[in-house]
Amino acid sequence: MIIHEVGHNFFPMIINSDERQWTWMDEGLNTFVQYLAEQEWDIHYPARRGPAYRIVDYMRSPAMNMVPIMTNSESILQFGNNAYGKPATALNILRETVLGRELFDYAFKTYCERWAFKHPAPADLFRTMEDASGVDLDWFWRGWFYTTEFTDQSLDKVRIAAVPTLDPATLEAQRRYEGTHDQARHIGQTRNEATLRPTIVDNTPAASDFYNSYDRYALSASDKKALEAMEAGPTGYLHELSISNKGGLIMPVIVGFTFEDGTTHVERYPAEIWIKHEESFVKTVYLPKKAVKIELDPYLETADTDTYNNVWPADVNVHLEALPERSRWESWRSNPMRDAQRN
Ligand SMILES: [Zn+2]
Repeated sequence: MIIHEVGHNFFPMIINSDERQWTWMDEGLNTFVQYLAEQEWDIHYPARRGPAYRIVDYMRSPAMNMVPIMTNSESILQFGNNAYGKPATALNILRETVLGRELFDYAFKTYCERWAFKHPAPADLFRTMEDASGVDLDWFWRGWFYTTEFTDQSLDKVRIAAVPTLDPATLEAQRRYEGTHDQARHIGQTRNEATLRPTIVDNTPAASDFYNSYDRYALSASDKKALEAMEAGPTGYLHELSISNKGGLIMPVIVGFTFEDGTTHVERYPAEIWIKHEESFVKTVYLPKKAVKIELDPYLETADTDTYNNVWPADVNVHLEALPERSRWESWRSNPMRDAQRN
């Protein structure tokens, strides 16, 4: 509370925006710097507003209960979330995920210095952040400040394929598996095994011909020669990811891979990955090891409103509770410090 009110010396007293028009320009920016100050005070400070994951409940509230940040102060719905929480979170995401801390801090300080003792309007913030960083942020302002769209990226499908092997035995095993495992597990096969034995060739060996013993998966001599003549490439796997945008908000895409040996790898794609098609894209990633887990937004930086569709394979570490959940108001009324003194 004190951190927040001290911040108002700067927003809107020194960087003198018009609170009657745009509440978010002082409350949102102030809540953002409040978050930074809280973390400098205590890295475990339980910040209520600022981190991306804290805004998720608001972002998924019904569209009829929301208006864009760029709404005149008289007409705002959900005042605290709209004018404090969401702009503070947007700036935090701009800092952590879009621009990076160093570039963001330079651009934000440029805004503060340029507009100290002047009267900035929203466009002055938007333009200053762009020209000081040298980064086109139109898509970001449009999505976060002019719409009520939310982040819901979904990892719809994963396909993994081993890159071509030059080892004849491995290739033969791969062909044999792919050629036989569908027939082996088909429901009719199991039932036929139980009901059709003995078959005609079981009873009458003379009925068998060349193809009953021919191994169609064995590599021919010329196949082996051809493999020998090839130059070995990298070993590893192609990971084909089908990703869709269900929330509408355009955001960078962060993909975390975990491998069998526990090591990890992260791919970061800028928002421009959606430039050709806003609804979905397919990306194929070559990696030397095979992923056993793939997750969108592994560091909770995009405010994704549905993380169940972010993980492959599906997350099963979920529990239900026998105890009734305390509402936020009940939690606030309680006084753990007083309770501890009584006991
Ligand atoms: Zn305030």
